[in-house]
Amino acid sequence: GLFVSEAAPLFAAWHTGDAPRVAGRLAEGCHSMVQCAPAVRAAIGEEFGMPAGALTPGRLAAALRRLGFDRVYDTNFAADLTIMEEGSELLQRMEGAGPLPMFTSCCPAWVRYAEQQFPDLLEHLSSCKSPQQMAGAVFKSYGAQLDGVDPRQVFSVAVMPCTCKKAEAQRPGMEHDGVRDVDAVLTTGELAAMLRQAHIDFAALPDEPFDRPLGSYSGAGNIFGLTGGVMEAALRTAYELVTGEPVPCTELVYVRGGEGIRHATLTMDGRTFRVAVVAGLQHVRPLLEAVRAGTCDVNFVEVMCCPQGCISGGGQPKVLLPFQRDEVYAARKAALYRHDAELACRKSHENPQVQALYREFLGEPLSHVSHNLLHTVYGQTR
Ligand code: SF4
Repeated sequence: GLFVSEAAPLFAAWHTGDAPRVAGRLAEGCHSMVQCAPAVRAAIGEEFGMPAGALTPGRLAAALRRLGFDRVYDTNFAADLTIMEEGSELLQRMEGAGPLPMFTSCCPAWVRYAEQQFPDLLEHLSSCKSPQQMAGAVFKSYGAQLDGVDPRQVFSVAVMPCTCKKAEAQRPGMEHDGVRDVDAVLTTGELAAMLRQAHIDFAALPDEPFDRPLGSYSGAGNIFGLTGGVMEAALRTAYELVTGEPVPCTELVYVRGGEGIRHATLTMDGRTFRVAVVAGLQHVRPLLEAVRAGTCDVNFVEVMCCPQGCISGGGQPKVLLPFQRDEVYAARKAALYRHDAELACRKSHENPQVQALYREFLGEPLSHVSHNLLHTVYGQTR
């Protein structure tokens, strides 16, 4: 395997962030629900001496259960849900219901940049909350209902590759009916510190499943953790919704890669559909200036702040030697693509638990209930 600095755990131990608060609430015996982002399962093993690219969803679920969480759910479930809502919003906009291009809104650092630098273009952002916030909102509504508890009693925790996700959880609008979606956010490094403190030997844990129903996910939800992943997941579903036909090839390699900006053009049902994938904010400015000038002919844009998407986020295990970075990021990306390929369900709209959520609770994408729980208004900066 690849060599990743053995000093990383020492650095993580210096900074435990929100871990003590989460540990305290768990010790009090609250009704807790946890989610973890896709990128975490492709990197946390590095904190415990495993090689870069070790894929550990089963150990991660086991570790969270050992820490005492009552429900071990998954952000990937909400990534599938995001595709249902965002894809439906895009198709409505294509029919004239809102401005194009539509930009993704799942990276809070990108959202904050747009709010500060291009406030006149905020209507171009999807109104969808990020998967982290959607998951939290579903935990404290449908999830609470399944468990027969008051949503106000649920302690909702997210494990993220990203420090910006802490600020996102605190944003105005990231709540419903007076209940905050997410109560605490731990980074991958903070979770590792918490596991060490609890003397849980991560590498020796058995593989366990995430809890159903809100821990079940498709391969499409899983690739949200890397640049181009949201776009690929969206196109797998959009193609089938628009044409009524199965997508000819599940692996849409033309939106994969690591360049700062990638463009692709597709034809669906005789209509031309232009998309762009952006990794790094320096690459989004020219696109936004073209939108302002009225010269941008793209329909849908994915924007992620980090160079390879969330697998390279600021809350992930540190790669201390710069010359190792590309190799480590490539190994983490390969792990998420591998996980996508090995899952039986690879399209968000085919996730049976997402289908059940719509049937039993939300109704349909963009319904009144969906809007109340899963959408927000951007521009409420503090
Ligand atoms: Fe956070 Fe980076 Fe992912 Fe954006 S791309 S959500 S900043 S880890």
